[in-house]
Amino acid sequence: MPHVFRFAPSPNGYLHLGHAYSALLNFDLARQSGGRFLLRIEDIDTTRCRPEFEEAIYEDLAWLGISWESPVRLQSEHLAAYREAIDRLSAQGLIYPSFESRAEIARLVADGEARGAWPHDPDGAPIYPGTAKSLSAGERDQLIGKGMPFALRLDMAAALARTGQLHWREQGEGPTGETGDVAARPEAWGDVILARKETPTSYHLSVVIDDALQGVTDVVRGTDLFWSTSFHRLLQDLLGLSAPAYRHHALIRDEVGQKLSKSTWATGLRELRAEGVSPADIRRLVGLP
Ligand code: GLU
Repeated sequence: MPHVFRFAPSPNGYLHLGHAYSALLNFDLARQSGGRFLLRIEDIDTTRCRPEFEEAIYEDLAWLGISWESPVRLQSEHLAAYREAIDRLSAQGLIYPSFESRAEIARLVADGEARGAWPHDPDGAPIYPGTAKSLSAGERDQLIGKGMPFALRLDMAAALARTGQLHWREQGEGPTGETGDVAARPEAWGDVILARKETPTSYHLSVVIDDALQGVTDVVRGTDLFWSTSFHRLLQDLLGLSAPAYRHHALIRDEVGQKLSKSTWATGLRELRAEGVSPADIRRLVGLP
């Protein structure tokens, strides 16, 4: 079976050197292994994604010398698949709606902090205080019936009770040097939001579904997503999805930006191209042969 790699940018801005590194690395690894390279557009956040950024992704990648299979998977065209997964988790009793506004959550967290340290997730955000979990089915129905906005959260305690200790195969290196068979620690994320009233999915949910549906065998991405992999493993297990191998790579954007130019903004591929930088120069700048 050929290895299947993918590059999965969100069209919420122009690609920079960090993206170029990730895309070229995936493309090179696919070629070297005689495998496939897929491009996926992660455009579920309609407030931030724009068609001109999507067009620019195609243009910039082609300029770099990268080619990909068609059709490109656009996440916004597959909302039904994500909704179906939410329904499955819901049928297992693993999902509940929460109704607090951001301000209410911030207040609950501040109260918690006043009573002692409040736990934060690996990205530094406070863990959800979990007050909505104790609402009865009747209370939930009533609030939904009133048209209240809500977020659908995974009940982490219930999810962990179903799965044993999970691991993933790390072929790169995490921020703490962890490699090989890495133990997943999804509990560090608390009751994560998987969907909202208006958006039937989230980054975490759609990424694991798409990687499985597209037969991705090797996820090669920035080390900033290393800790998220714990949560992705949990979702894969709960939904019966295959787990790819992971290779998290260093983020190179800042160092390279500084080497290249005094101004750190000059890492955008479009600016570099306008300045006369070639695709071969980009490869050199990001340390690829
Ligand atoms: N869409 C994500 C991003 O642009 C990448 C997701 C992934 O590689 O798993 O950061």
